[in-house]
Amino acid sequence: MRDAEAVTFGSAGLDRASGLRAKPEALAALLKRPDARVLPMWQGLVPVVDAGLATVSPGHPALADAAGTPTLLGLDDGVPWFGADISAWTPDIADAAANAAFLDPREQRHPALPAESRFVELRAVMTRLTRREAEIAATARALFGWHATHGFCPRCGHASEPAMGGWIRRCPNCRAELYPRTDPVVIMLITRGDRVLLGRSAAWPQGMYSLLAGFIEPGETVEAAVRREVLEEAGVRVGAVNYLASQPWPFPASLMIGCRGEALSDAIEIDPAEIEDARWVSRQEMVDVLSGANPAIRPAREGAIAHFLIQRWMEDRLD
Ligand SMILES: [Zn+2]
Repeated sequence: MRDAEAVTFGSAGLDRASGLRAKPEALAALLKRPDARVLPMWQGLVPVVDAGLATVSPGHPALADAAGTPTLLGLDDGVPWFGADISAWTPDIADAAANAAFLDPREQRHPALPAESRFVELRAVMTRLTRREAEIAATARALFGWHATHGFCPRCGHASEPAMGGWIRRCPNCRAELYPRTDPVVIMLITRGDRVLLGRSAAWPQGMYSLLAGFIEPGETVEAAVRREVLEEAGVRVGAVNYLASQPWPFPASLMIGCRGEALSDAIEIDPAEIEDARWVSRQEMVDVLSGANPAIRPAREGAIAHFLIQRWMEDRLD
């Protein structure tokens, strides 16, 4: 797909400067640069102002609760961007229950950040960030989320420690090196003539339908995962499968692999344990769905790769 990278969280060409991660002196020198920017992340939320991400200088009071040295996320046209996890900071009133919601509705203000800035759920602002900001925020969210949930060595159970400038963890007991995980998920535009297969999960907002998706299993190819998931969830057999586009989806650590598949059968038989409903939707119907005029079907959220692929399919731009 020619404009695959136009997807939200698509690569904007950030220079990750991975060669610097093993050079503490070089990282320290970058942190001293007057133009260095640090993105504080708090419990998976990103700080934003109207203009985009809210960043601070190294040493800013908002970073007082940061765990360790800020992590170099990359160079944006030469400007060093760091991230710092300040999840240890406790606001006066925290509503932990809200954390479990489908779209985190929390907004949190930090007293050391400008009054107009807020920590917000990345999904709520992903479509209004610049492409470079979205790439940086997705990277930080995935990386810090991994650190927060992988504090112990999976081999020996000992507490592990960040290493390589914050890009891996190392076990001081058995010397294991632990790498951030990314979980591959297939998401598929299954078509039959001029119709596309949509499904919905019971946990989604009412009426929302999207493309079917599922985690790739150990020992499975992308193509096999597409065919298996569609057969399991909707009872539809799929023939030819081809790759379209991918999207990092750091909620918490997925890589969405967007594919197109040609259905070989029409009849839908859902697995109620997996999805609540599935249906074929024609191009004609989809015009109303995307414009919000269909009373029964609400489209996948803008910014999600499902929305991107459906829109490209409608515009005949999948090549
Ligand atoms: Zn170990």
